[in-house]
Amino acid sequence: MTTDTTAALRARVTEQFPALQADLEALVRIPSVSAAAFDQQHVAASAAATAQLLRDAGLPDVQILSAPRPDGTPGAPAVVARRPAPEGAPTVLLYAHHDVQPPGDPATWDTDPFEPTQVGERLFGRGAADDKAGIVAHLGALRALGLPDGADLPVGVTVFLEGEEESGSPSFRAFLETYRDLLAADVIVVADSTNWKVGVPALTTSLRGLVDGEIELRVLDHAVHSGMFGGAVLDAVTLMSRLVATFHDDAGDVAIEGLVTAPEPEVDYDEAAFRADSSLLDGVALAGTGTLSGRLWSKPALSVIGMDVTSVAEASNTIAPRCTAKISLRLAPGQDPAAADAALAAHVAKHAPFGVQAAWRSGEQGKPFLAPGDTAAMRAARAAFTEAWGTAPVDVGVGGSIPFIADLLEVFPDAAILVTGVEDPDSRAHGANESVHLGELQNVVLAEALLLTKVGEGL
Ligand SMILES: [Zn+2]
Repeated sequence: MTTDTTAALRARVTEQFPALQADLEALVRIPSVSAAAFDQQHVAASAAATAQLLRDAGLPDVQILSAPRPDGTPGAPAVVARRPAPEGAPTVLLYAHHDVQPPGDPATWDTDPFEPTQVGERLFGRGAADDKAGIVAHLGALRALGLPDGADLPVGVTVFLEGEEESGSPSFRAFLETYRDLLAADVIVVADSTNWKVGVPALTTSLRGLVDGEIELRVLDHAVHSGMFGGAVLDAVTLMSRLVATFHDDAGDVAIEGLVTAPEPEVDYDEAAFRADSSLLDGVALAGTGTLSGRLWSKPALSVIGMDVTSVAEASNTIAPRCTAKISLRLAPGQDPAAADAALAAHVAKHAPFGVQAAWRSGEQGKPFLAPGDTAAMRAARAAFTEAWGTAPVDVGVGGSIPFIADLLEVFPDAAILVTGVEDPDSRAHGANESVHLGELQNVVLAEALLLTKVGEGL
């Protein structure tokens, strides 16, 4: 890659960006919320709109496809657009999703969530970052490389835009298996994560996995008078509290035996910024030990996310006979979810206080992601990021989960997976006032165009 090519590409990205921003704004105006309670015609409309953008961009083979969900109902429409590889060249799969999270209470937004609004260098709107910016990043890279004429595109390209990522990708695995031949690629770029901060790009090299489930604790056959029996029998809520308290040690680290911890990350969060972002109240100490980024990316985290107890309004002077708690356990990269689930079950059995009946009912399981050490595709991506930003990228983890990445790795074990992103710490994906930084989006477009060029030159 010569400096000339980089400068020429950068000039083209800059020149083409106003049209790309207009395309992003048009997509944000489509309220493509995939959650079941919302009108799914908008998801169909965003599939149609993105398909048209890809057709106009010169991809000759554009289809809107779906696969069945596990319950047999059809999955949301996905868009698959292809341009075959030149003879002997590799193929790159470019992933993003065209559905969005529900907007939440409009009163918490400063602007209309579905009316894109530019304020300074940021464009606000639901999906402006997550993940309609990912769609236009792919589109912009293809345009910068000369599509629709296509003269400069050195690789085969398959654009895959999912329509139900924000609803947990229920048909994703079936989709991959049904359209395996259509989607097969040498390199997969998942543009649905984040950069480190404005001005500093990042490759996402780890994601936590997830296990959840319920503890059902039973102490009495039925509720009894707290005066007649209290003192010799503890209520189910107290006993559940004692059990739940054993999940963490005094420092706040997860204390379940046998769980994996991954190595410490290379970058760390600023504690003051973390406190502000998390809205932690004054005087509350942080939980856990080690670096802040390590606690968020490299260690397990356990939260009680629900509990069935008598409400305060309905409370009476009785000893509660049973209590159910829902537990969510984030898994460190490298952790097998089934082993974590077994460790949780063993912990509950071992620590159930006073011999109460405490049963663990397993729920969802999602695998974590840990990028292989240092692949040729990762080196190409790092070089492309460095040229685009003028700053080398850092490796970041994400404390949340993208379980479909594990599916991609399983269905395409030979593909190199790169998790890139358009977000930055102010993007507020899923929250009110979601936005994308337009200068960063230009860098993302340029970096992806450079990456495709480098992959075309051979890994
Ligand atoms: Zn997303």
